[in-house]
Amino acid sequence: MPADRPISELFAQGRPLRSIEFFPPKDAAGVEALRQTATALRRISPDFVSVTYGAGGSTRERTAQVSAMLREDFGLTVMPHLTAVNHTREEIAAIADAHHQRGIRNIMALRGDVPKELTATTAFKDGLRFGCDVVALLKDLHPDICLGVGGYPEKHPEAPTLDADLANLRRKVEAGGSFITTQLFFDNTVYHRFVDRCRAAGITVPIVPGIMPVLSLKQIKRITGLCGASLPAQLVKRLEVAGDEPEVIETIGIDWALTQIRDLLARGAPGYHLYILNRAKSALILAAGLAA
Ligand SMILES: Cc1cc2nc3c(=O)[nH]c(=O)nc-3n(C[C@H](O)[C@H](O)[C@H](O)COP(=O)(O)OP(=O)(O)OC[C@H]3O[C@@H](n4cnc5c(N)ncnc54)[C@H](O)[C@@H]3O)c2cc1C
Repeated sequence: MPADRPISELFAQGRPLRSIEFFPPKDAAGVEALRQTATALRRISPDFVSVTYGAGGSTRERTAQVSAMLREDFGLTVMPHLTAVNHTREEIAAIADAHHQRGIRNIMALRGDVPKELTATTAFKDGLRFGCDVVALLKDLHPDICLGVGGYPEKHPEAPTLDADLANLRRKVEAGGSFITTQLFFDNTVYHRFVDRCRAAGITVPIVPGIMPVLSLKQIKRITGLCGASLPAQLVKRLEVAGDEPEVIETIGIDWALTQIRDLLARGAPGYHLYILNRAKSALILAAGLAA
């Protein structure tokens, strides 16, 4: 099997890219469900898929196995995530070498969050303190691997100001990040303002909006609480009206995401990245709704 194309080359084609994020399942039943999702998604041919990594190394093997499965059994261009927290440089190098050997040429390079059982002083090893350190290490090890980095339109929760966060984002790009995928957001003005501020700060790489179709009000309140994204009052009202009707909530979530994506693409976003929690349905409906 030939090596993957770097995603930066796909962006250079100037068409919007569609990408989908998976997480590595915990058991065989989850893997089977993921296989079914990947089979269903064949119809819409995502430009690439990504596979998350459990900060601290908790999914080290599973992220690699699922990435290999999606690439080899489904012919997908796969971008495994890699978080540096709790890893030495040697461990990061071993993971990156294994991906490279399998033909993977794209990695989402992240710092990760400190796991509960560790502290900031024990979690960061060998000077791998921030995303820019991980990017620099990976770029040094494998210059032919295209690196994506995370961006936070509503500011990373630890950053004192958005300007400080943007200066740090710029560091990641200068260290070798080829594109930015954003944290999820539900209000497009947040993304458009972020892109304007990035451009003004001299960050010129593609900024891919991260979109999550809502599946439940409780779940989305928990997720936004953790990542610091805001929930528009109108979306909350709609979800409250839907009450405990999962199908109605799903319809509202997909409708909101579709409206977001249409506006983003119309205003020049370089594609969209879907956080679908390993379920095919929303991605298929969104692709159908966006078909010309
Ligand atoms: C697209 C995307 C995918 C993700 N996938 C995963 C995943 O698979 N697994 C997972 O565990 N987590 C994932 N996360 C979450 C991510 O790991 C956390 O948000 C983490 O806290 C930040 O990682 P980072 O590399 O983006 O941060 P960094 O860029 O390191 O930033 C973290 C904080 O440090 C500050 N900072 C950065 N550089 C400097 C510097 N040089 N000096 C001072 N301050 C600095 C920043 O402003 C920010 O406040 C993902 C996030 C995104 C947006």
